[in-house]
Amino acid sequence: MTAGVDISTDCAPPPEAAEWALSPSRALDFKTCALLYRFRVIDRLPEPPSLDAARGTVVHGVLEKLFDIPAAGRTVDAAAALIEPEWRALLEADPELAALVDDGVAECADGSAGLVALLSSTRGLIDSYFTLEDPQRLEPAEREVLVEATLPSGVRLKGFVDRLDRSPSGELRVVDYKTGKSPHENFEGKALFQLRFYALALWRSTGVLPRLLRLYYLRNVEAIDYAPDERDLEGLERQLEALGEAIARARESGDWRHKPSKLCDWCSFQSLCPAFGGTPPPL
Ligand code: SF4
Repeated sequence: MTAGVDISTDCAPPPEAAEWALSPSRALDFKTCALLYRFRVIDRLPEPPSLDAARGTVVHGVLEKLFDIPAAGRTVDAAAALIEPEWRALLEADPELAALVDDGVAECADGSAGLVALLSSTRGLIDSYFTLEDPQRLEPAEREVLVEATLPSGVRLKGFVDRLDRSPSGELRVVDYKTGKSPHENFEGKALFQLRFYALALWRSTGVLPRLLRLYYLRNVEAIDYAPDERDLEGLERQLEALGEAIARARESGDWRHKPSKLCDWCSFQSLCPAFGGTPPPL
C-alpha cells in the first residue's frame, strides 16, 4: 500500500456526516440483501477463507510491488519472483488459510489446489497481465490508494483504488485488476459499479473527473474501458445517497430484512438466515 496517501477532500464534512462509510463492496452487499450487510458490517461475523480471494490478494500484492522496481527491471520474470514470497507471507499470517492450502482439498474456481498448483496458476495470471500492458512504459501516480469523499447528504464514500495513473496534463485513469473472468455484458454494469464509485469519490474529493476507468480481467485476458461523464456520476451519486439513507434507517430501526436471490448460493451465512430456517443472532 502507498503509505500515507490520502486524497480526501479538504472541505469540512456536512454537520450530519455519517459515522460509517460506504465502500463499493458493502454498497453491493446492502443492495443484494440487508441481512447480509448486517452480518458483515454490524455483526462482523467471520467468514471461511477463500483460495480465490487469497490468490487475488497475492496478485494484487505482486502488481503493486512490481512498480517499486525501476521501469527497466519490470519484467515478467521479476514479477514471477515476487509470487512465492507473497504467498508465503499470506499463509504465515493466516493459519486457517494455510491449513486449506496444506490439505489440498479446497480449490480455486479454476481447479487449482495445493501450493504448487496455486503458485503456477498465480504465475498464469501474472503472465496474462503482461500481455495486456507493458509496465515498463508507465509510472503509476498511486497504488492501493485510499479515496474518500462526503456527499452533500453526509453519506461518506471510502475505498481503495488498485492503481491511479495521471497523464502529464493531469488527466486521471483508474485501474482495477480482477483475477476472475470478465462478466457477461449483462453484468458488466455491476463490475463497473466499483470503478464508477471510485470515480465519483475522486471527482467529489479532488474536483477532477477521471477520464477513463479500466478493468483488467486476468483470467481471460481482457481489458474493459469505460469513460464516465458528469451525468452518469451524478446519477450514481443520487443512487448512493438513497442507499446511504436506507442503511441509516436500518441502523436506527434494527430492521435488516433478508432478501433471497440466486446470490444466496454464495452466502456463508445461510445457517443464520431465516430463508434457510436459521435465526440471526442478537445484534
Ligand atoms: S442467505 Fe441469502 S437471504 Fe440469507 S443473508 Fe445470505 S444473501 Fe441474504
